[in-house]
Amino acid sequence: MTPVFEWRGAPPGDFAVIGDPVSHSLSPRMHAAGLAQMGLDLCYRAIRVHAGEVAPAIERLRSLGYRGVNVTVPHKAEARAAMRTVDEFAARCDAVNTIRLEDLHGINTDGSGFLDTLEGLVPPGCAVLLLGAGGSARALALALTLAGYNLSIFNRTRERAAALVRELAIEAEVVDDPGLQDVQLIVNATSASLRNESPISFGTGESKLQTPNSRGQGQKFKVKSSESKVQSPNSKLAYDLVYGDTPFLLAAREAGLRTIDGKRLLVAQGARSLEFWLGRDAPRDAMFEAIR
Ligand code: NDP
Repeated sequence: MTPVFEWRGAPPGDFAVIGDPVSHSLSPRMHAAGLAQMGLDLCYRAIRVHAGEVAPAIERLRSLGYRGVNVTVPHKAEARAAMRTVDEFAARCDAVNTIRLEDLHGINTDGSGFLDTLEGLVPPGCAVLLLGAGGSARALALALTLAGYNLSIFNRTRERAAALVRELAIEAEVVDDPGLQDVQLIVNATSASLRNESPISFGTGESKLQTPNSRGQGQKFKVKSSESKVQSPNSKLAYDLVYGDTPFLLAAREAGLRTIDGKRLLVAQGARSLEFWLGRDAPRDAMFEAIR
């Protein structure tokens, strides 16, 4: 298991991920593999930082000679506030996940990394249903609409999804029920999987897709029977930001959808971070193998 340091007691190093909790993070293992494959003798640590302490923690890591920091839950907004400058995407979604310490410049690679992972899996500009309206959904919604996807958003708390659309000033429809008929990609950007739950249920009997609050309206969410049996390259894709076989992905697979979990996104956003810090291509395959 990767050792976790408290930021006040962190040793000198090169790169790090900060978060709370951070012990579960696969980033140290993934980045260590990437750096080794690049022939670089540089280290990547996991460092715990409490809410409200991001700015002094960043300053300390900078004074210790660290070059770059990744930011994970729940510090992306706090990190954005601690930057001297940020790129346009990070400014719009109010979240920084990658920091260059030399000049305190922050960027967000979650959105671009997510788009990287869609290549070859769904047609550009297709209809997407995004589940959730938290920090990750914000970055994904912005990236998807900027890239020309036709977006609808469903969240347990509707008002939060409406606020997301309003604040980002994006073209997206907030829906009361997750109708999947014309959708090619369904993204689970909720944290329901972490509680072993799915934000929507895919009824298998009649291939209905229902939300917990849509009982009796299953007609609206019918999946074509061919899709529920055959895994064809043209079938809908269910994408969970969480790693592994989540309840959402298991149910989607049972209903005949293709599935992808959050590991590809972890690699894509991490590879973009390395490329930002080092100015060289990152070895995505080696990074993926390390966390498989
Ligand atoms: P937030 O806490 O900001 O948002 C959580 C969202 O999940 C809200 O929309 C919330 O709805 C919804 N939600 C929570 N529980 C349930 C439930 N039981 N049923 C339905 N909806 C629910 O989280 P983040 O946006 O930061 O992260 C979302 C997930 O994405 C996390 O699990 C995280 O681990 C993962 N992630 C993975 C990444 C990767 O690299 N693979 C990168 C970033 C995130 P409401 O508004 O109603 O409360």
